[in-house]
Amino acid sequence: MASDHIYIRGLRVMALIGVLPAERLAPQPLQIDVEMDVNLAVAGQTDDLGDTANYGAISDAIAALVRASSDILLERLIARIADCVLSFDHVAAATVTLTKLQPPIDEDIDSTAVSITRTRQSVNPAVRHRAIVALGTNIGDRVAHLRFALDHLPRVVTESQVFETDPVGGPENQDAYLNMVVALDTHLDPYALLRLLNSVEAQAHRERTIHWGPRTLDLDILFYDNITINDDLLTIPHPRLHERRFVLQPLSEIAPELCPPKWDTTVEAGGVHARGSLSNLISTTEH
Ligand code: ATP
Ligand code: CA
Ligand code: CA
Repeated sequence: MASDHIYIRGLRVMALIGVLPAERLAPQPLQIDVEMDVNLAVAGQTDDLGDTANYGAISDAIAALVRASSDILLERLIARIADCVLSFDHVAAATVTLTKLQPPIDEDIDSTAVSITRTRQSVNPAVRHRAIVALGTNIGDRVAHLRFALDHLPRVVTESQVFETDPVGGPENQDAYLNMVVALDTHLDPYALLRLLNSVEAQAHRERTIHWGPRTLDLDILFYDNITINDDLLTIPHPRLHERRFVLQPLSEIAPELCPPKWDTTVEAGGVHARGSLSNLISTTEH
């Protein structure tokens, strides 16, 4: 049992929580503190972010989850935070403290809080979801953008190869893209996952100026379990995936059953070239 810890202290997020009518109307300030049991011996030797728990990515995921919450009880929200933290690689156990910084109580009181400890073993596998996410990049250090994204996504279980692809749609003379598709194991609901993806894109300096214009990083949800969503924020399955070889080719490597029948003969060929695994690309560009 590791006695090494990583802490996230004082993460403050506004969220809708509580039973009182006023609490249902406006978000209130919450503070999240997390102590994670992580064996740090390997990262201590390798100096590799992949060998430890990525607290930046975990903080982003918690903030996205809490911001999107409309739970009644701190007890419910804190259980979901603990599940989310434990869904990240290398986290064996987590103690989470969730504090209402302005509790609606008439007495002179600083705050109210709940705290729980959960281990990997105690996570209910039924609350795990499988999301398939497409990645694209055509500005700057494209390989580094893909690596950055994978380091900030929860529990990547399968990765396709990286494909270099000709731009489709959008303005003329865009540079070629790198595309890949990954499968994730996540406790985030689809909207919280979208917020997390948007926040990872923003950290990679994604700008939305031209429709289908060049971008440092684009992260699209292709599938989420087998659910269908069609509202202002989200369309799942992704509505344009069936016509895009730059999505279908990598998707067929990790989840061929999700590709339309005979897509390989019906979707226009060309402009999509396999470049090998991301880790191989990283080692060849670094040396
Ligand atoms: P496309 O959706 O055709 O691939 P795009 O990725 O360039 O185009 P964006 O500007 O990145 O488009 O996204 C526009 C909006 O699409 C986002 O604000 C998001 O709310 C919405 N959206 C709807 N469904 C999805 C989905 N499945 N995955 C990601 N974003 C989605
Ligand atoms: Ca897209
Ligand atoms: Ca997108």
